[in-house]
Amino acid sequence: MYTCSQKRMEDKIKTFSKFGDAGHGGITRYTLSAEDIQARNEFKRRMEAIGAVIEVDDVANMYATIPGSDPNAKRIVMGSHTDSVKNGGNYDGILGVMSAMEVLETVVEQKIPHKHPLTAMIWTNEEGSLYPPAMMVSGIVCYDFLPEAIRGKFKYEDMMASKSVLDASKTFGEALEKSGFKGDKKYRLNRDKYKYMFEIHIEQGPILEDAGKDIGIVDCVLGMFNYRFRFYGQTVHAGTFPMPKRKDALFAAAQTICYLHEEIDKLGHPELVYTTGEIVCHPCVHTCVPDYVDFCIDVRHEKPEVLNEVLAVVKSCAEKEWAGCRCEVERMWNRDTVYWDKKLVQYAKEAAEESGISHQVLHSGAGHDAQFASYMLPTTMLFVQSKDGLSHCEPEYSTPEHCTEGATILLNTVLKADAE
Ligand SMILES: [Zn+2]
Repeated sequence: MYTCSQKRMEDKIKTFSKFGDAGHGGITRYTLSAEDIQARNEFKRRMEAIGAVIEVDDVANMYATIPGSDPNAKRIVMGSHTDSVKNGGNYDGILGVMSAMEVLETVVEQKIPHKHPLTAMIWTNEEGSLYPPAMMVSGIVCYDFLPEAIRGKFKYEDMMASKSVLDASKTFGEALEKSGFKGDKKYRLNRDKYKYMFEIHIEQGPILEDAGKDIGIVDCVLGMFNYRFRFYGQTVHAGTFPMPKRKDALFAAAQTICYLHEEIDKLGHPELVYTTGEIVCHPCVHTCVPDYVDFCIDVRHEKPEVLNEVLAVVKSCAEKEWAGCRCEVERMWNRDTVYWDKKLVQYAKEAAEESGISHQVLHSGAGHDAQFASYMLPTTMLFVQSKDGLSHCEPEYSTPEHCTEGATILLNTVLKADAE
């Protein structure tokens, strides 16, 4: 068993938290922004200091590689993203990059023998906060391997044309050109040169903390579906039209959301999660009864049979009239549960057991770059406990002890994969 350095890990956490520091405990670090470029340069500086060779591909992903004893062996890659959401925390994404760096630093410092070259990687634009969609660049790089249903959303030309949400005159492609980090397509993650992919991420939920466990051994990313509900009513004056004669599309939507909660909860699946996080109301004027409302529902669970039970509830809504309004239900997209490579999950479990670090197996409810990578390469993930389960916000926190334990398990998992 080898152990990573908490002192070095803390130094990285402190340093990277400066890049995009918003002044109240968190960061705003949009992809390819000046702040992101600071983080990328720090990655380059630290990795060159241990003798790693830096490569940058044509979509600004960065790869820092140290050689193994076998010059013909494929690389084992670890990584995550440096970008954040607006007013995000100091751990989402960057923890995976810092952990990968920590593994390489530990290997070099302790002269740990290994056969395969080891690579620490930065994925560009995982959050998609400035240039949607999320997981944009792993979608581009893994495009040929993605399921048909997902692939359509990640066409290279469309992604380059993705407009900044702050300034629609700027595109992702232009930001890429200007960044100085547009490298060569030949360096993209690929099957010929890379063997396995690993990603550490914060849990972004309270399960580990509630269970008193430090590290999560992740076995899958949950399957999900997303449906759109549309309600058609009639706009009338808020002051003149009697209540019984109204067709209020917002009231219809509100009734439907309550119905969905009641019926889905009755199904009795404790691990099921579902969310209405977005709603559109027309004409959205305080003196008008709304004539049109739409909202989405996002539903996630590991088992397809459970998702199908919920789907039956969702579809049944279209058969009813709600507050005098017609209801339409349309599928926007879905994905099947993505299981990580079983052998790599087993290595991670063994590494956790041998290290004596408290851990448990859990699922990922969120998407990550590793999910798209897993269509190309055998892949797995580790989660580090998140304080109060908070993420995508400034109070997001994982202790230096837990962060270092994550890196230690990653290191020993990688060494097991290396020694095959
Ligand atoms: Zn993330």
